[in-house]
Parts: sequence; C-alpha cells; structure tokens
Amino acid sequence: MAYKFVDNYREKGARKRLVDLLQKKGIEDEHVLLAMGKVPRHYFFDETFWSQAYKDIAFPIGEGQTISQPYTVAYQTQLLHIRKGDKVLEIGTGSGYQTCVLLELGAEVYTIERQEKLFERTVQVLPYMGYKPNFYLGDGSRGIENHAPYDKIIVTAGAPTVPDVLLRQLKIGGLLVIPVGNEQEQKMVTILKVAENDYEKVVLDTFRFVPLVGDKAW
Ligand code: SAM
Repeated sequence: MAYKFVDNYREKGARKRLVDLLQKKGIEDEHVLLAMGKVPRHYFFDETFWSQAYKDIAFPIGEGQTISQPYTVAYQTQLLHIRKGDKVLEIGTGSGYQTCVLLELGAEVYTIERQEKLFERTVQVLPYMGYKPNFYLGDGSRGIENHAPYDKIIVTAGAPTVPDVLLRQLKIGGLLVIPVGNEQEQKMVTILKVAENDYEKVVLDTFRFVPLVGDKAW
C-alpha cells in the first residue's frame, strides 16, 4: 500500500465534520473530540480511498482486519478517561489509529499486534507521523507482563471472556475496556480494579469487532 502524508483543506474539513458527527452521536468528552480532530485518519488509507477516511465506518486494512469505526474509537477512548502520563496497554494495534488518539491524549502507550504485516507497517508509519508508542508483536490476550501494571488497558478485538491475566496486570484503581461476547456481537465492558481481587464491572452497548485470537481468547 502506498501512503501519502498530505493534510490539506479537504481532509481537514472532512475531519472537522466527522468530529461534529461524533459529538451529535453522543461523544461528550472534549479531550477525546480534540484528539480525534488532530489525528489525520486518511494517513492510514491508501490515497485511492481517502474519500472513505472521514466516514464513520470501519474499513479493511489487510490481513482480514479493519481500522475501527471512528465512533467506536471515540466510545472506547471516552470510557478510558485518559489522564496525561497514564500508562496504557492497547491490545490489537491494527492500523495504529487508536494508538495515535491515545498518544494525543498524553498517554504512554504499549501496543501489541499479533499480525506481523500490520505490526511492521505501524512500526514504520507511526514514527514517521510523529507518534511514538512502544510497539510489540505477539499475543496480546496474555497482556505484556514485563511492563505491568497499567493504569488502563484497552482491547480492540472481541473476546469470548475477560482474560484474568489482564485484570492482574491492572494497577489498583486501573480500568479495563474490552468488548466481550460471541463472534457476531459483543457488549462493551468496563472493569475497574477497586482492590486486589475486587472489581466493579459495567456492561454497556453492543458492538461488532473482529475476534481477539490467542491463548486467552478464541
Ligand atoms: N483500533 C484499531 C484500529 O483502529 O486500527 C483496530 C484494530 S482491529 C479492529 C483489531 C486488531 O486486533 C487486529 O489488527 C487483530 O489482528 C488484532 N488482534 C486480534 N487478536 C489479537 C491478539 N491476541 N493480540 C494482539 N492483537 C490481536
């Protein structure tokens, strides 16, 4: 895929309209909206498909995977309540778009992807765009033990259950956001680690993600 990094008035205007739409759809967090207004989503698309980049749709990125729908990215990010300096584990780097939104919010991001081609692409493209997360290749359903504990963990693929190992890698007061369900649809779930072995779970809206594939997943 040939990427081009030009952010002209047409793309800036389309991005502004997308942010307005997200607000109309119920995203209220100003910081999230500002961050999404900054990340050039068309940079994650081949130039042929730039006209699709600011529609509120998921889009194929190769390897049978998708860049998440902007509303889904905004929804999950809003639930994370990111504060500057939060140490965040993202499972399922995909295109790296969600990663950039987290970085715009001031998070220190550890992101893991199991598909080698997607991993290699983000390792090249994100730093070129000025975004510098910590990249990992592997099975994120086990988390990343050697950098734990995390303030926040976000899973961007649908899991059959909540992997215990992820809960163990949260700080006390830390938050996990994960879509849980079958392969057709999942409920967005947030889990707050109140104390060691004490969790508060909230089940929210229905989404459809690609499956979390791995040792602690499908
Ligand atoms: N937020 C990402 C974006 O906007 O591009 C969405 C990524 S896509 C919906 C989910 C990603 O999770 C896919 O790239 C997939 O390969 C990855 N994935 C699935 N299971 C995984 C696992 N066990 N560990 C790491 N990545 C995984």
